[in-house]
Order: sequence, then structure tokens, then C-alpha cells
Amino acid sequence: KDGKLSADNIKEPMREIRRVVHPAVAPCGALRALLEADVSLPVVRRFVKKVEDAALGERVVKGLSPDQKLTKVVYEELKSLMGGEQAELVQPKYGPSVILMAGLQGTGKTTAAGKLALYLKKKGLKVLLVATDVYRPAAIDQLVTLGGKIEVPVFELGTQVAPPEIARQGLEKAKAEEYDAVIVDTAGRLQIDDRLMAELRETKEVVQPTDTLLVVDAMTGQEAAGLVKAFNEAVDITGAVLTKMDGDSRGGAALSIKEAILCFNVFGDDCSSPPWRCLQVSGRPIKFVGTGEKMEALEPFFPERMASRILGMGDVVSLVEKAEGAIQAEEAAELTKKMMTGMNKVEDKQLSEVERRYGQYEAMIQSMTKQEREQPELLAKSPSRRALGSGASLRGDS
Ligand code: GDP
Ligand code: MG
Repeated sequence: KDGKLSADNIKEPMREIRRVVHPAVAPCGALRALLEADVSLPVVRRFVKKVEDAALGERVVKGLSPDQKLTKVVYEELKSLMGGEQAELVQPKYGPSVILMAGLQGTGKTTAAGKLALYLKKKGLKVLLVATDVYRPAAIDQLVTLGGKIEVPVFELGTQVAPPEIARQGLEKAKAEEYDAVIVDTAGRLQIDDRLMAELRETKEVVQPTDTLLVVDAMTGQEAAGLVKAFNEAVDITGAVLTKMDGDSRGGAALSIKEAILCFNVFGDDCSSPPWRCLQVSGRPIKFVGTGEKMEALEPFFPERMASRILGMGDVVSLVEKAEGAIQAEEAAELTKKMMTGMNKVEDKQLSEVERRYGQYEAMIQSMTKQEREQPELLAKSPSRRALGSGASLRGDS
């Protein structure tokens, strides 16, 4: 028999969730900083509260235990904490996809531009890279070298042309030569810099990108908040690439998957306690994750997979999905059956009613005089002239 999740039957497992979730949301990076500032607890509390709200009253279909159902609820909440559905690159209505890479210096913009180029090339697209970082000659060389490795052409005009102009000409070339995608690498900023930000905005105006991706180093600390906010306000980002999610960078500092939660919170809108409010800045999704220095080390970001990796209970989740799916199918079939029989009854009844009336009208018309048939209004004027022979009145008050 079906049951429900109640305050009673989720009490114990919720206690367990509180225990498990705590280390999961507070591993390192900005999150650790926040923990040190003693604000991680509200984050955990809020998550637990959301789980509780979502769980209470939920139906537990037959064959499942309340615990199993609760696991599924936790999974759904984790998934939504991480951005919900997978966010793809924006598809242009016409012309090439134009992807503008933005971010601070050293976060991995140029590397991510190359990786993305390879990723799209493997999908069969004709890709052009555009080098607009004119502030460091080495930056152009770096992109040209990467382009050579992955066999993607790089458009560059040296360091003497303004970035928006390089971008404009690059896009022109891409349109003329029917490229499918243009990836514009931009200059690094050591920190938020008004002049460079203005230039980035100008480049954006010129190329009208389909995607503006903020490249964020997974090790970014608390300053991530201001960073995301500033870039989002300046250029209205469509998403982020989270780089260095592998363990090799920064002298082997182990970056765990759990750390990603930091960024989900940066990009999600799940936090409302004071330090987190400032992180509640963009609500933009993470679109890709960089996991190494190689050009192949880029993956689309799947909130679902991340949620089940963190939760580590994928088997329970799929068990619940199967059980609920089976019940739903069963109930849908039952409902359809009920509706069908109901419908037949109505139809039969209506049909016989129509037939009965038709028979009456036929009889009435047959019993009318020739004059009455040609001028039926005569019948209305004089009730006595009703075709009583048919046993029915023409006003149809049967
Ligand atoms: P930019 O200044 O934003 O263009 O950053 P770069 O693309 O030049 O990257 C800076 C450094 O980070 C380089 O040494 C890259 O090899 C390295 N890097 C970039 N992405 C990743 C990544 O996902 N994992 C690791 N381990 N290193 C990365
Ligand atoms: Mg660069």
C-alpha cells in the first residue's frame, strides 16, 4: 500500500542527512573561508529545510521505503542546487555561434578557448579562434600554438590593433567563409579593471556573441562573488566555464568534486544569509568544466551527474524512479480505461437520443400537409395545426 513521507518517518534520516551534507558543502576554497566566518551552517540549514519542505507529504509508492523516497528528494534538491538541467551553448538563429571568453588573467580563458574549439570541431563544426589579447604578445602566440595543435585556424592582427576591431574583422572573416562557430579569446585582467571591462563591453557590442562565458578558476576564493557580479553587470554572461577541476593545479591541491558546490552557490541563487547574498549574483549556469591542461580536458557540466556523485546513492535514486515510473504507467493505463468506458457510455446514450429524435422528426414531417411542409411557420402560428400524428410537438419539448 502507498504511504506518505511524514515528520515522523523522515526524522531519523534527516538527522543523517544533516550529518552527511555538512562536510559536503564545506570542503575548501571560498566555502572554507565562509565556514571560518561561521556562515556555512545557514547554508546547510537552508538546504536541509528545502529537503524537508519538498519531502513532507510526498507519496511513497508501494514497494518503497520512506528512506528510499527521501533519498530521491535529496537528490532532486542537490540537482537543483547545482543548476537543475544541463545548460547548452546558445544556438544562433542564423550565422555562426559567437562565443566570447571573459575572465581574470590566469583563470584558463585561452586554454578553455582552445578546448572549446576542439569540442565544437569534434561535433563537426567549422571553428575559428580569434586572438584579441593584445596586451601580452605571448598571449597571441599561445593561442596560435594551441590552434596549431588542434588544427583550428586562429585569426590575429598582432598587438597594434584594438581588440574590438580585431574581433570585428574576425567575425567578418567567419561570416564570409561560412564558419559555424567563432571563439573570441580576450585579454586577462589581474583584477576588475574599469578600462579593460569597458573594452570587453565594446568587443561584446561589436560581435554580439551568442554566449559570453565567464571563465572561473575552481580555486577562486571569496572574491568569486564580486568577480561574477562585476562581469555579469558589465557583459551579461550567459554561463561559466569552471576550470582546474582536476587535482593537478596549484601544487597538487586536491580539488574534490564537493568543492564545486561553492560554484553552484556562486552561480545559483540559493543563498540568502549576508555573505552569501553577495554570491547570489548571476544565477547563470556552469556550462563546462575544465579538468586538465590538455585540449581534451573539457566536459559539459551535468548537474544530474554531479548530484549523484556527491550523494553516491545512484542505485537508490534509480530504484525510486523505476518504482514510481511503474506505478505511474499502471495508473495511467487504469485512468485511460476508465475514461474510455465512460466515453463509450456517453456516446451510446447520445447516439440513441439523436436516433430517437430523428425518428420523431421524420414521422412529424411525413404527417404534415404539403402546405405545412413548404411553410413550416404555419405550425408555429397555430398549435392546432401541429402534426399530432407524429406524437411529438415541433418545439421539441420531449
Ligand atoms: P588565461 O590567462 O585566462 O588565458 O589562462 P590560460 O589559459 O593561459 O591558463 C593559465 C594556466 O592554467 C596555464 O598554465 C594552463 O595550462 C592552466 N590551466 C588552464 N585550464 C586548466 C585546467 O582545467 N586544469 C589545469 N590543471 N590547468 C589548467
Ligand atoms: Mg589568455
